[in-house]
Amino acid sequence: MRLQQTLANSISCTGVGLHSGQPVTLTIRPASPDTGIVFVNRNGHAGASLAATVKHLVPTELCTAISGNGFQVKTIEHLLAALAGLNVDNVYVDVDAGEAPVMDGSSAPFVRLIRSAGLVSQNKRQPYLKMTRPLEVVDGSRRIRIEPSSTPRITYSIQYDHPLIHTQAYAYEYSADAFESEIAEARTFGFLEEVEALWARGLGRGGNLDNTVVLSKDGVLNESGLRFADEFVRHKVLDLIGDFSLLGVPFIGHLIADRSGHALHTKLVKQILDHPDCWVLLNADHGVAATEPLSALQTARSAPAVALQVAS
Ligand SMILES: [Zn+2]
Repeated sequence: MRLQQTLANSISCTGVGLHSGQPVTLTIRPASPDTGIVFVNRNGHAGASLAATVKHLVPTELCTAISGNGFQVKTIEHLLAALAGLNVDNVYVDVDAGEAPVMDGSSAPFVRLIRSAGLVSQNKRQPYLKMTRPLEVVDGSRRIRIEPSSTPRITYSIQYDHPLIHTQAYAYEYSADAFESEIAEARTFGFLEEVEALWARGLGRGGNLDNTVVLSKDGVLNESGLRFADEFVRHKVLDLIGDFSLLGVPFIGHLIADRSGHALHTKLVKQILDHPDCWVLLNADHGVAATEPLSALQTARSAPAVALQVAS
């Protein structure tokens, strides 16, 4: 098990929101141990903060958003994926608009920012949520399941009636190196007719061929083509890594997703937190008993020690 990590320095970028099309400046700053990922509003109700946990999740179309304390931040999943993928546990994320910048539609620009800021280990161990029993969420032919496993990993499969996709499957073992080389570069994608319908409804205003892979009937509109032949399923893995970080702590288990999406990803996060009989919290400096309910996990960061669960 490892020590908690934060950034060595603050780092900023600017871009536009995928759905709002609004310009936004984002600054990622170091934070002390046990802070987690906390968004800070630098516009309007300036200074209000919001932890990136499923407790603050709001239902939105086509992206992951959190809301509370007087502000909302949309489309946070690609940034969250970069932070979770590189094992960044504690940071403040300042935003001066209600949507994170889309950048190139992947996590790679955030990975480059984090790498240029540098990472430092902190003087506290990182707790992990280890699954001991399986849980599953099903919606028709779409499903996502988590099973006990000795390491964190994802198996994702998608099916689309498109000649560039058909069936794609990807097996991912969590590691910062694998995230950077296999997953971070995979961009968000959409079908031309869906993209046009979104634009007609005032969504996806910041979307264009520089930040979205747009599928035509038999190919992609992007002149530069694909970054990987299976870029589509890799991006679904990226989204799942980001969405699953809303658990609030890293997990140890095997996620198996079939034709899933943001809504099912976050339903499973909620289901896990609602079923404390299906997991134990490992290696917390301030541990909580394995049988403590959801509230115990969410307050574990400041709670006095109840019982120390030592990792095997
Ligand atoms: Zn995405």
